[in-house]
Amino acid sequence: MAVLEIKDLHVAVAGKEILQGVNLTLRTGEIHAIMGPNGTGKSTLSEAIMGNPKYEVTQGEILLDGQNLLQMAVDERARAGLFLAMQYPAEIPGVTNVNFIRDAVNARREKPMPIREFLQEFDQALATLDMTEKMADRYLNQGFSGGEKKRNEILQMMMIKPKFAILDEIDSGLDIDALKVVARGVNQMRTPAFGALIITHYQRLLNYIVPDYVHVMMGGRIVQHGGPELAQKLEAEGYAGLRDELGLDI
Ligand code: ADP
Ligand code: MG
Ligand code: MG
Repeated sequence: MAVLEIKDLHVAVAGKEILQGVNLTLRTGEIHAIMGPNGTGKSTLSEAIMGNPKYEVTQGEILLDGQNLLQMAVDERARAGLFLAMQYPAEIPGVTNVNFIRDAVNARREKPMPIREFLQEFDQALATLDMTEKMADRYLNQGFSGGEKKRNEILQMMMIKPKFAILDEIDSGLDIDALKVVARGVNQMRTPAFGALIITHYQRLLNYIVPDYVHVMMGGRIVQHGGPELAQKLEAEGYAGLRDELGLDI
């Protein structure tokens, strides 16, 4: 089992403190969801975990199996087993999707994966995600629709097999069929060797990927913890309802 611990995390962006003391412990075998209104710091948390240098950690710790991630660059964190499916995946012209994924897979292995084995797994993952082989040879995300980009993030995750994946609004811009496909990919990853942090502001995705734990973030802090029922409650009462209930002034 692997453990990702976030302790009293404070993060500033462009000189402004956005995260104000986030505490969260993820274990492999668990799926956690973070819900919260727009602009509350959810993407800031995912960028800080992954090590985007624009997000300055001003206080606190992030540990992966006790190892201090804050001293590690983004690529080292990826090799250590973290994966971030971004809210806005970048387009990278000149690099084909299949080569990008192969390099990412091999970066986490001592010896490169034999090409036949790789392609076999790759084809299976494409099929799970209802993706065509044509997408493999296209340049990374270039000209992909919003939904295709999101599926492609899940494709990368399925191939890379991280210890922990952070999925930042993987549901945004997806129609219901694409949402089910994405959920199928994530659910296929659910094993004792894999943990995920699913960031969303809608409950809908969590009907398809049922989380073990739900956390609500507001104003740069996690203000409530619960199970899947918390997501249902938020859907019914809205963030304003919870804010009133907790007497929060944010
Ligand atoms: P969420 O993902 O919950 O919608 P974000 O983490 O994206 O929220 O944003 C939290 C706050 O941080 C917002 O006020 C946003 O404007 C600010 N912020 C986030 N990223 C940047 C950035 N790269 N540059 C400037 N401000 C940012
Ligand atoms: Mg947002
Ligand atoms: Mg966001």
